[in-house]
Amino acid sequence: METLTPRRGDSAEPPAPLPATAPLPATAPPRQVDRIAGVRLLDGREVDVDIAGETVVAVRAAGASAAPGPAVLDGRGFLALTAPAEPHAHLDKALSWGATRPAGGDLGAAIEAWRAHAVTVDAEEIHGRALAAARRLVANGTTAVRSHVDLHSAGDPLRGVRALARVREELAEVLDLQIAVMVRQEDPADRVRAAVAAGADLIGGAPHLASDTAAETHRLVDLAEELGTGIDLHVDEFLDGDHGMLAVFTERVASWEPARVRTAGHCCRIGAMDAPGQAAAADAMSGAGVGVVTLPITNLYLQGRGAATSTPRGLPPVRALLDGGVTVAAGADNVRDPFNPVGRSDAAETAMLLVVAAHLDLETAWHLVTDGAREVMGLPPAGPVPGRRPDLLLVRAGGIDDVIADAAADRIVIRAGRVVSARAVVVVDPFTPATTCEETP
Ligand SMILES: [Zn+2]
Repeated sequence: METLTPRRGDSAEPPAPLPATAPLPATAPPRQVDRIAGVRLLDGREVDVDIAGETVVAVRAAGASAAPGPAVLDGRGFLALTAPAEPHAHLDKALSWGATRPAGGDLGAAIEAWRAHAVTVDAEEIHGRALAAARRLVANGTTAVRSHVDLHSAGDPLRGVRALARVREELAEVLDLQIAVMVRQEDPADRVRAAVAAGADLIGGAPHLASDTAAETHRLVDLAEELGTGIDLHVDEFLDGDHGMLAVFTERVASWEPARVRTAGHCCRIGAMDAPGQAAAADAMSGAGVGVVTLPITNLYLQGRGAATSTPRGLPPVRALLDGGVTVAAGADNVRDPFNPVGRSDAAETAMLLVVAAHLDLETAWHLVTDGAREVMGLPPAGPVPGRRPDLLLVRAGGIDDVIADAAADRIVIRAGRVVSARAVVVVDPFTPATTCEETP
């Protein structure tokens, strides 16, 4: 558990500020919650939420419950929400902006800058940045993350996979971490098998970067079938032209059993189609059970840079996809790396961008970063509902408009019934020495 505590200046040296890439303070051991008392739900009711182990067992009007177990969390003033899930991160690249500095702001420049850095990046650097990025997500309320991770050409090709597997082990009590290995055309099948053996859960990749997109898409689906994994591909991360990937992908996975994860990230090109084309794409993905992940902050940054007039937004047509029956999630993709120099690792930021750039209403935007994200990721349903998993975010807010517009900092994060982070803003006297973050015992 972490908290912001004003530090009184009793020594001559003021505390040094945290460097931009430093991890947030460590969390204390997670603590089980038996009841959240007097918390507000999105429908306005004030309730007690009873939890037994990893299940919400009852939600009753506040004060109407029987005697609770020993661990009661005072939820008064807080809104109880399903905890966010981040369906598409690149933890191995996160927080590397300062070390990479791409020459331009488009996807090609970002890839070049990252490849130049990746030649020398070692497992320790990857691990340190990935751990810091994951902890930022948890502190903001995210309890499940799917991260893509590169294979490397120079040195140990699996060092990124191993670094993320290490992060998963270290954060096992606070975060569900799925790892999708980014397979390139030059990666032989044995390397992919080794990546899965080293901890990758899903086959990933960006076949639109391959010389033969259709052949590479077939190869990646073949590998997922051979290895018994799900698949999560970067699909059509561009606005003009067509490599035919979407048709190949949806045809190949349409016969998979329903529970097997198949995800299409980005899908920017669909946003540039006319309405009949968008409806056909939605039909194909809905019929094939493909979940779509839109990534507003990164694609708003990367796409449309060649269009000075009426610059396109680079997002898929989220409303049309939802109307067509597609399961849609939203994430951030890159955070403070060559592909996007900004981002707060906060689902409220992604939801805000969905409201302004994808024209979603507040409730739908929040759904895409929480319940929709969990569905795309193949996770069990969560939220303050009997029978669901108690992965919850408590925010000091009156309604979802406060959450998304203000991104209120006072948050309590509960994962599988246990508090994994708690944070509050502290008002300080500005004439006393600096304030810093300290770990609570
Ligand atoms: Zn990505």
